[in-house]
Amino acid sequence: MNHNIAIDGPAGAGKSTIAKRIAEKLGYIYVDTGAMYRALGLHLLRSGIAADDTEAIIRASEDADITLSFEKGEQIVLLNGENVNGLIRTEEVGNMASACSVHAKVREKMVRRQQEMARTRDVVMDGRDICSVVLPDASVKVFLTASVAVRAKRRFDELTAKGIACDLSEIEADIRERDHRDMTREVTPLKQAPDATLVDSSDMAIDEVVDAIIGLR
Ligand code: C5P
Repeated sequence: MNHNIAIDGPAGAGKSTIAKRIAEKLGYIYVDTGAMYRALGLHLLRSGIAADDTEAIIRASEDADITLSFEKGEQIVLLNGENVNGLIRTEEVGNMASACSVHAKVREKMVRRQQEMARTRDVVMDGRDICSVVLPDASVKVFLTASVAVRAKRRFDELTAKGIACDLSEIEADIRERDHRDMTREVTPLKQAPDATLVDSSDMAIDEVVDAIIGLR
């Protein structure tokens, strides 16, 4: 039987940085499920579909073949065969991903793909519904969070380091809006699974968080 580590949490909690490091340390594969919803968000934006056009979103999600491949431990997101890694990290794509992920039909297809990936290998998978829906039998389940202020500051520093001009209060407002949408949607809202361990990284260094999660195995 393979070992899986499931990490859920809100936007900007540091899930991907932490999960990637855990995967490197343990020789597992890191699966970033948010990237799959982002690829769909990109597909919708490219198709000119509005965030509130449910029918068009569901139709477009049926046409979009979103898969992940792994090269030297690096995850590659393929949208109808095209590598879209470099195109999905914008706030615009993130917001569209959040808007389309509220639909059950969209989620069913994604969840199936994610479960297939975890069946044959050891994975560290992060997202919003991993502990509860995608990998309910994972050997380690974590709800990773941090305060809104800390998450906004981290995102601000990340963008500033890349030379992208941004506004801290706008980022904070965006995070609040995304949290609200992810936590109040009808289908599998983001919340801590009853058997997941809460890790609040507000005052923790990255390596401390990594070791704390590895220590749960
Ligand atoms: O994690 P990331 O910010 O890249 O995810 C983008 C959006 O995709 C999230 O705001 C959330 O709405 C959605 N998502 C989801 N379920 C997941 C992963 C991401 O609904 N497992």
